[in-house]
Amino acid sequence: MDVPAIIATAADKPLEISTVHRREVHADDVRIRIEYCGICHSDIHTVRSEWGPANYPLAAGHEIAGIVEEVGADVTRYSVGDRVGVGCMVGSCGACSSCDDGHEQYCHQGSVLTYNSVDKYGDATQGGYSTEIVVPESFVARIPDGISSQEAAPLLCAGITTYSPLKRFGVGPGTKLAVVGLGGLGHMGVKIAVAMGAEVTVLTRTLSKKADADRLGAVAMHATTEPSTFETLRGKFDVMLNTVSAPMDYAAYLNLLTPRGTMVCVGLPDKPVELNVAPLVIGSRTLAGSLIGGMPETQEMLDFCAEHGIGADVEVISAAEVNDAYERVLASDVRYRFVIDTATLAN
Ligand code: NAP
Ligand code: ZN
Repeated sequence: MDVPAIIATAADKPLEISTVHRREVHADDVRIRIEYCGICHSDIHTVRSEWGPANYPLAAGHEIAGIVEEVGADVTRYSVGDRVGVGCMVGSCGACSSCDDGHEQYCHQGSVLTYNSVDKYGDATQGGYSTEIVVPESFVARIPDGISSQEAAPLLCAGITTYSPLKRFGVGPGTKLAVVGLGGLGHMGVKIAVAMGAEVTVLTRTLSKKADADRLGAVAMHATTEPSTFETLRGKFDVMLNTVSAPMDYAAYLNLLTPRGTMVCVGLPDKPVELNVAPLVIGSRTLAGSLIGGMPETQEMLDFCAEHGIGADVEVISAAEVNDAYERVLASDVRYRFVIDTATLAN
């Protein structure tokens, strides 16, 4: 079935409204009517081929919230009418130790990404900038009551990508955490870490978003364009969550960690950087990375967010506004996630 979608046809062309193909519902599949899809910076990196050549035509979108419309014969967890989400993955081998551990994002065969990937049927996957999607039930999560679909959609990537490393590195009461970059991921990182009980400081290029940082629960905000920041904050943070999408001087930030502190990178710049390892060695510090989160943890994160009344701060847009939204994300002019109302595609 062909369904309306926003597609990229080339790295250097604007997105346009067209269609993508969805397979028929197999026994283990759920067909979802998409209500909202968030715009992640990864969508932009991908459709512009910044992380390597993309397969066009391509519909991006991996922050999907919608309603189950149809279930396959073997589906047990979902029924028609359920409110559900789909994140960055729609398949994995299901047999390796990572899949067994619920870390499907590290599947030894490579997980099937929601877009720009090839599924087990040999078809190119197409993401959530669309009105419908067909996904195996094991890659569907339940959106708890208490979070609206528009505020829930970004949790499927920005939420889990920040929740997973915060949990892994033991962020909680007593942790002094720095969140670097206050964008889509960064604002979720602040909200979730505050709910976990941490003392959160935001490191950002300018102080223009100070009122937002206060509202999100951060205790302080410092400008990284101000050289004195790197003096006054030296050795202050146990953990740093780095969400910056561009190359940066990692060593300067590592010096802000306590001895044995950890900087975990979730931002994924398109270019490599040179690293002075002295701050790692001298402070016995750790530089780590983290990729989204597995399906069990994604459900845990959604339940945690519902329990703490956390959703994303969203600006809902129509399909026609998506190219402008991309430019605004690149200009960091978003508070803090654009979410496409996919009903505007159906008309
Ligand atoms: P975003 O909304 O654009 O936020 C990125 C933030 O980084 C900006 O708000 C800005 O914060 C800061 N920044 C941007 N350009 C910068 C520059 N040149 N120098 C310093 N700081 C800069 O993007 P996002 O959707 O949160 O995604 C952030 C990154 O994470 C992207 O690279 C994305 O691909 C990646 N990502 C990774 C995963 C994963 O699983 N690891 C998942 C999703 C996304 P300030 O304005 O506050 O300085
Ligand atoms: Zn994403």
